[in-house]
Amino acid sequence: MTISSEKKLIKTEIEINMMREAGKVNALVLEEIKNMIKPGITTKKLDTVAETIIRDHDGVPTFKGYPGPYPYPSTLTISINEEMVHGIPSGRVLKEGDIVSVDCGTTLNGYIGDSAFTKGVGEIGKEQIRLIRVTRESLYKGIEEMYPGKHIGDVSAAIQSHVESHGYHVPRQYTGHGVGRRMHEPPQVPNFGVPGQGMLLQEGMTIAIEPMVLVGTSLTKVLSDQWTVISADHSLTAHFEHTIAVTSNGPLILTKSRRNT
Ligand code: MG
Ligand code: MG
Repeated sequence: MTISSEKKLIKTEIEINMMREAGKVNALVLEEIKNMIKPGITTKKLDTVAETIIRDHDGVPTFKGYPGPYPYPSTLTISINEEMVHGIPSGRVLKEGDIVSVDCGTTLNGYIGDSAFTKGVGEIGKEQIRLIRVTRESLYKGIEEMYPGKHIGDVSAAIQSHVESHGYHVPRQYTGHGVGRRMHEPPQVPNFGVPGQGMLLQEGMTIAIEPMVLVGTSLTKVLSDQWTVISADHSLTAHFEHTIAVTSNGPLILTKSRRNT
């Protein structure tokens, strides 16, 4: 990577503050959706509410129209059980015992916040609870590595080792990513890696860290809708994500409703 293209990865304080504003709206959306996740609700209903909240705050749903096999049709991706990422909201009704991963991007004044969580629907089983806990913990293990002078490989390895120490797996084809004015900017941040390797983290980088975790194997496949990614063996999956700024004071989570709470 040349110096000039690397420079573009560095955001000014003003830009980071703008991303934080986008991240706050995004956090609000996800909090509201989290509260609505109950047996009997359709994923389409969640999507409609998310879009309304974003537009009420003068934002734009980042995912809607995102290029792919065909433009992504919705505000949220909602992925249930074996669905890992990119599930398309529909008339599907959430059932007691499901686990649901919700991913949302909000563009506000040209800057993007990208974040995701997984939650159980009603009462869920022990394996589901453990998977959600380990996936969430692995996100924070990755975030804790995000200091200037560390490498992408430190973040990746922290996620991978936490996940694999619990007997779970990370996918190889789906990664975290730089984010800013565009949803996917360099660098890619895999959920597996070697400490000390990969790009050096520098103050002003803004990166979406997003561990995806599979119970059975690391293999995935894409459904015939061409978007939904599932575990190849149909085992359970979970996904957590935050957009983070690398600062001299350490990692700053931009997609929480209050500062680093
Ligand atoms: Mg996301
Ligand atoms: Mg992302």
